[in-house]
Amino acid sequence: MAATIIDGKKLAAEIREKLKAEIQELSDRGITPGLAVVLVGENPASKKYVASKEKTCQQLGIQSFGHKLPETTSQAELLKLIDELNADEKVHGILVQLPLPKGLDAKEVMHRIAPEKDVDGFGPHSLGALMLDEPGFIPCTPHGAMKMLEAYGIDPAGKKAVVVGRSIIVGKPLAMLLLRKNATVTMCHSKTPDLKAECLSADILCVAVGRAKMISGDMVKEGAAVIDIGINVGPDGKLVGDVDFQAAKERAGFITPVPGGAGPMTIAMLMYNTVLAAKTRAGLKMSF
Ligand code: NDP
Repeated sequence: MAATIIDGKKLAAEIREKLKAEIQELSDRGITPGLAVVLVGENPASKKYVASKEKTCQQLGIQSFGHKLPETTSQAELLKLIDELNADEKVHGILVQLPLPKGLDAKEVMHRIAPEKDVDGFGPHSLGALMLDEPGFIPCTPHGAMKMLEAYGIDPAGKKAVVVGRSIIVGKPLAMLLLRKNATVTMCHSKTPDLKAECLSADILCVAVGRAKMISGDMVKEGAAVIDIGINVGPDGKLVGDVDFQAAKERAGFITPVPGGAGPMTIAMLMYNTVLAAKTRAGLKMSF
């Protein structure tokens, strides 16, 4: 039986709708949530992501402050901008689009963002809170993945979850979130000897590698929930995930499409974190 397709686009729209009420509550108090979006260099994919984040801000009534810096920007100049944004009252969240051009140290930049403005959740404070099961900014892509599981009634408790990819942006935080929800979690990476066997054991299979269709249909357990986070450009110029969607959907119970799965959810959760930052500063709680 073909899998249920997890509609990230629809779910993201629902989250944006709910956020509108939160933004109205802030607006009633004279507060407009503000997101600073920093883009360094000319990476075409990064430009596209930044444009789509800024457009979503606009649609929701979040003020976006775009900072487009040249490829030649030095680490000191970038850190100076972060310091200014940290001090700017109108800015509730700071996003520095990754990857940064060669020669810039992303880790140092993430460390510099004020913890209360770290809406991407990549700084040590946010990641520490995640490890400690304390409230904080959850990185947007893993957060979106968890929301998709929740929306389709897939409870990780007691299940075997396999996360392929161990980046700080996706794989590691996603594994922590699945663990928090009581899954038994295995993390796979480029040194994992038998990836197929690991994947076949997964009730929940999450893939964030960046290799088109690397997970073939025969690597998916019958009935598994498959969350494909990869974004790759196929030979025809179209976007494809890390999972062979057509083959995998014949075996999976649930599967996310690419595009239309993790992508829109990531942006929705960035908006969530920005509103959370603004509400927290105002001493207000999120209603969801
Ligand atoms: P990274 O390049 O930082 O990490 C890739 C991970 O994949 C690494 O842990 C690496 O292992 C692992 N890996 C590489 N080759 C293999 C292999 N043959 N078998 C098993 N594991 C392997 O990528 P990101 O996490 O930043 O991104 C992953 C994908 O997700 C990309 O396609 C990216 O575009 C997409 N993405 C999508 C987002 C969205 O909004 N939908 C947001 C963020 C990312 P090792 O650590 O050993 O090198």
